[in-house]
Amino acid sequence: MDSTQKISHLALDIGGTLIKLVYFSANGDYSEESRNGCSVVHGKLCFAKFETRKIDDCLEFIRFNILHHSGVQHPNGAAHDKLYVKATGGGAFKFADLFKEKLGILFDKEDEMHSLVGGVNFLLKTVPREAFTYLDGQKEFVEIDHNDLYPYLLVNIGSGVSMIKVDGDGKYERISGTSLGGGTFLGLGKLLTKCKSFDELLELSHHGNNRVIDMLVGDIYGGTDYSKIGLSSTAIASSFGKAISDGKELEDYQPEDVARSLLRMISNNIGQIAYLNALRFGLKRIFFGGFFIRGLEYTMDTISVAVHFW
Ligand code: ADP
Repeated sequence: MDSTQKISHLALDIGGTLIKLVYFSANGDYSEESRNGCSVVHGKLCFAKFETRKIDDCLEFIRFNILHHSGVQHPNGAAHDKLYVKATGGGAFKFADLFKEKLGILFDKEDEMHSLVGGVNFLLKTVPREAFTYLDGQKEFVEIDHNDLYPYLLVNIGSGVSMIKVDGDGKYERISGTSLGGGTFLGLGKLLTKCKSFDELLELSHHGNNRVIDMLVGDIYGGTDYSKIGLSSTAIASSFGKAISDGKELEDYQPEDVARSLLRMISNNIGQIAYLNALRFGLKRIFFGGFFIRGLEYTMDTISVAVHFW
């Protein structure tokens, strides 16, 4: 990082799996100009993420890349003034003492659901082409009509999944959720495939075939559809169901196929629960977010197929 860079406005979201941080990096000369009576500082917003289990890497990053450039650090490494930083997520409670002790940072805690809803409302209203639909490999940006945004269902897929009915600015209610979320995909995936990271697991899933392990309607009906109740032969009747009768051990399956079935199981389930909750409250629009999705095409496609299936 350029030594003339001036860093400010650090904020953190410390979740069960990932720590997300954002900070403002002002341009070298740090010139302020006045526009319509407001001062303008040129610079950029920077984003970074760390695995929560590697919190020491995050502390080091903040010490060397942020405190060092924010003028609050002594040459011996300790912060000279109390530095308050906005923080949200469970880790804002869990790791408050650690940040205070190691970096002299005190957390100014914000409620995570309140921040999430406020952030999504802000982005949807302010940033053009922020939301999009994804179906059959096609991404289509959604025009948001400010007068017709609410109510909507927000499905935030992190380690766990929260489903929130949003009725307006600051008006929301967590109506549902599921513990089968991104943490389940990563946790089970690590156990079943020996993958070390999310990206590795996801990459693996792209090369797999879920039909090897999932029990399809056709497997039960001798290759035909169960058309009377609208089930095609390729619909999944039971995720991982073939493992009951295959007489195989885990080692006999390709990790790619296991990863693929797992991703489909988690994504289908979230899509289905989201759809049912939208139906329950008569909500015509569902926005999906959270790091599990991260713009990943196959994940988005599976969720969207699940919603459309129902
Ligand atoms: P939380 O706030 O609970 O940590 P996030 O919204 O950050 O939730 O999402 C965490 C989930 O995102 C993980 O459980 C995993 O499924 C997925 N994920 C996406 N990218 C990564 C990554 N690089 N490392 C770990 N998990 C990732």
